[in-house]
Amino acid sequence: MGRKHAIVIGASLGGLCAARVLSSAFDEVTLFERDPLPDGPAHRPAVPQGRHVHLLMARGAAEFETLFPGLLDDMVACGVKMLENRPDCIHFGAAGHLLGTQHRLQDEFTAYVPSRPHLEWQIRRRVLALDHVALVNHGVDEPVFDGHRVTGVRTADGAMVEADLVVDATGRGTRLPTWLSQWGFERPREETVDVGISYATHQLRIPDGLVDEKVIVVGASRTQPRGLGMLHYEDGTWGLTTFGVGKVSPPTDFTEMRALAEEILPPHISAALYQAQPLGDIALHKYPTSRWRRFDQLDRYPRGILPFGDAVASFNPTFGQGMTMTSLQAGHLRRALQEPEPESTFLKATTKTTWPVWTMNAIGDLTMHGADGPAPWWYRPVGALFDQFLGAAETDPVLAEWFLRRFSLLDSLYMVPSARLVGRTVAHNMTLWARSRRSP
Ligand SMILES: Cc1cc2nc3c(=O)[nH]c(=O)nc-3n(C[C@H](O)[C@H](O)[C@H](O)COP(=O)(O)OP(=O)(O)OC[C@H]3O[C@@H](n4cnc5c(N)ncnc54)[C@H](O)[C@@H]3O)c2cc1C
Repeated sequence: MGRKHAIVIGASLGGLCAARVLSSAFDEVTLFERDPLPDGPAHRPAVPQGRHVHLLMARGAAEFETLFPGLLDDMVACGVKMLENRPDCIHFGAAGHLLGTQHRLQDEFTAYVPSRPHLEWQIRRRVLALDHVALVNHGVDEPVFDGHRVTGVRTADGAMVEADLVVDATGRGTRLPTWLSQWGFERPREETVDVGISYATHQLRIPDGLVDEKVIVVGASRTQPRGLGMLHYEDGTWGLTTFGVGKVSPPTDFTEMRALAEEILPPHISAALYQAQPLGDIALHKYPTSRWRRFDQLDRYPRGILPFGDAVASFNPTFGQGMTMTSLQAGHLRRALQEPEPESTFLKATTKTTWPVWTMNAIGDLTMHGADGPAPWWYRPVGALFDQFLGAAETDPVLAEWFLRRFSLLDSLYMVPSARLVGRTVAHNMTLWARSRRSP
């Protein structure tokens, strides 16, 4: 493959990360984005999810920092909240269990709480400052395939632009499967989980001093299909997102949102919401299906084009993993570009990181959150075991810390506790059970 010109379609987080990596391997990189890009941190119509609470996992923050050194310090200088080994800044409930975040963590843990528009803007301005990266604010109609390989793109105004590699970062609505079939390849098989999620979000101003936490997340559970996230943003405002899973509607006005908060949040936070001032209108979003397109399983795959970010897999957004999974793909792309034929290397590496996270999400969604989709027999026992683990983690700080670090995708992408931790879970739950039998 020549390494003169690479094209990236889509300049959201995926496209920007890909462009950063390609800029070290190609003479020129052109980013095509059809959405007008704001000069500052602002919402974009083409990224409607940006209005809703976007958790940046600790692992994602570390990966972005590797791609863009200095990013995290700059964000903090702009007011982005930073969580160090201070779990008291977090209120965190998962699958009906409130995890023991009142204990100080043993291992180093740093996370950041930028709003989605702020994070994207910080990254965008860094990419656009790179010498040989150009942005064209124009849509791409389709990649051009010459019968052997992809050789460039045709833009929305009919121009043909040649490239040695095209990266498709157009998000979960990618048309790459259709293009593949038009070029005589199979469409990729799709793994799907119908999660039936709806989001409703208000931006708020809460008087200072009422809420110390910076991140408040209470996920859905077997008995409560509605959850809530609140993040304290860099400009002092709060994002409050409520959501419903399994086709259950979330509260869609501020009064109902506060009623849900009273049900599932500690009193000091729900009381603070009664003193909050909503800013602007409520934003709504539906996310019916998590989808993993198995480009890696195709017998024949064309040279010259790669899917990237959500175009490969889009994950249940309530788990807050999408941007971090995208950041991991940047590392795969960097390594794949050292190969003469990067396409299959990239797809294989992406599968390795996608599988554990996808599978654990599917187990949670299909066994606890009322989702529809194929569920192998072992999902239910694993889900039940995990429920036991989270139950014990409510009062065992070692288990809680293990979960928090894995949930943040820090130590490993595999949510599989060791035999020692499973033993600790059983012993802990038995002690709790015996204690509850002794006390009236
Ligand atoms: C409701 C919701 C909540 C989420 N919450 C979280 C969270 O808490 N934490 C987290 O890590 N992730 C979250 N995500 C996922 C996260 O938003 C994505 O993983 C992330 O944006 C990376 O996506 P991307 O760049 O691949 O695609 P997108 O962000 O979807 O961007 C695609 C880009 O391609 C452009 N484009 C499309 N077609 C063309 C074309 N033909 N020509 C030119 N440009 C084109 C679009 O305009 C857009 O800018 C959430 C997603 C949703 C839906």
